[in-house]
Amino acid sequence: MTVLLRQLQAIADELLGRGLPAPADALRRARFRPDPPWTWCERCGVTMQERACRCPTRRAGDTAPEWIVRLGAHEGTLRSWVVDVKHAGWESMAETLGAALGQQLLDCGLISRGDRDVVIVPVPSPWLRTRARGIDHAGAIAAAVARACGARCCMALRQRLGATQVDAAARAGRMARAQRFSARRCARRVAGRHAVLVDDVRTTGSTLAEAAAVLRGAGAVRVSAAVVSVKD
Ligand SMILES: [Zn+2]
Repeated sequence: MTVLLRQLQAIADELLGRGLPAPADALRRARFRPDPPWTWCERCGVTMQERACRCPTRRAGDTAPEWIVRLGAHEGTLRSWVVDVKHAGWESMAETLGAALGQQLLDCGLISRGDRDVVIVPVPSPWLRTRARGIDHAGAIAAAVARACGARCCMALRQRLGATQVDAAARAGRMARAQRFSARRCARRVAGRHAVLVDDVRTTGSTLAEAAAVLRGAGAVRVSAAVVSVKD
C-alpha cells in the first residue's frame, strides 16, 4: 500500500510539477523584471554600485568570457527559482528563465537574432549529477536561450566527474593542469564563431573562465557568457 501511495505521489508530482507554480504565474506574482541592460559590470557581472566596478580589467592570459549578460543578482526570488530549477528539476522554469535570458542577450546588443555566427554552449554538469538530479539545468536554460534568439545550441563541452567548483582551490594549486572541461566532437562548430556560454549562476567566475578557455582552444574567436543570476 505504501509503495502504491508513493508511486501515486510520484505521478502526481510529475504531472503537477512537484507543486511548483506555473513559471508565468510565478514571474507575474513576483513582478519580476530582468535588470536593465548593462546595469551590472560587463566583466564580472556584479551589480554596478558606483561608476565602475573594482574587479581587475582584463590582462593577458585571462581566460574569462569577454562579456557577461545576466537577468539579475543571485538573491531573493530569482535565487529561489534558480535553486528550484536545479534541485527540484523545475524544467518549465528553466525554459522560462532561458527565454528571458535570450531576450536579454538581444536587448544588450551582444548578439542579433538569427545570427549564424553565434553558438550557444551550456556549461555542462558531470553526467552522473544530471542523472541524479533528473535535469541538466544549464542545458535546459541554454536550449531556451537559443530558441529565443534564433541561434544554434551545441553541447560542446563535457565535465569530468568529481571536478566541481568545490575543489577549484585545490586545482588552482598543484593540480592546475588537470582540466575540468573537455571539448566534445561537436565543439568544432564553435571554430571561427562567437560562443556564448550559458549557466545558471556565476559565483567566483572560475567555472566560466575554465569553460571559456576550452572553447577558445576549440577555435571560438569570441566567448561571452549569459547567466540567470550573479552572486554579488
Ligand atoms: Zn566587475
